[in-house]
Amino acid sequence: MNVEPSMRVEDKLYYNRYLVDVGHPHVKVRAHTTPSPQLLALLKVCPARCYELNDNGQVEITVDGCIECGTCRVIAEPTGDIQWSHPRGGYGVLFKFG
Ligand code: SF4
Repeated sequence: MNVEPSMRVEDKLYYNRYLVDVGHPHVKVRAHTTPSPQLLALLKVCPARCYELNDNGQVEITVDGCIECGTCRVIAEPTGDIQWSHPRGGYGVLFKFG
């Protein structure tokens, strides 16, 4: 029995809109030379794929598209690997339902 979903999460996320607060990212990655296990986990768990490895093997974040789910906050804020706050009023994700 084939149970292929009719639509993927990535396809749904495309409908959201995001107002970028230039110069005020609401999530920051602590400067590091070698990523911690927590930072490496963020590459896989962020549903919006905001985290990626740069050419030096360090984890970077691009907050555009963040859906503010808080997953990275649970994993990497307690260890100090990231700083997380809500976007300033009016900025951030605008969900479209349906
Ligand atoms: S809050 Fe969620 S969507 Fe935003 S960067 Fe963290 S894991 Fe990704």
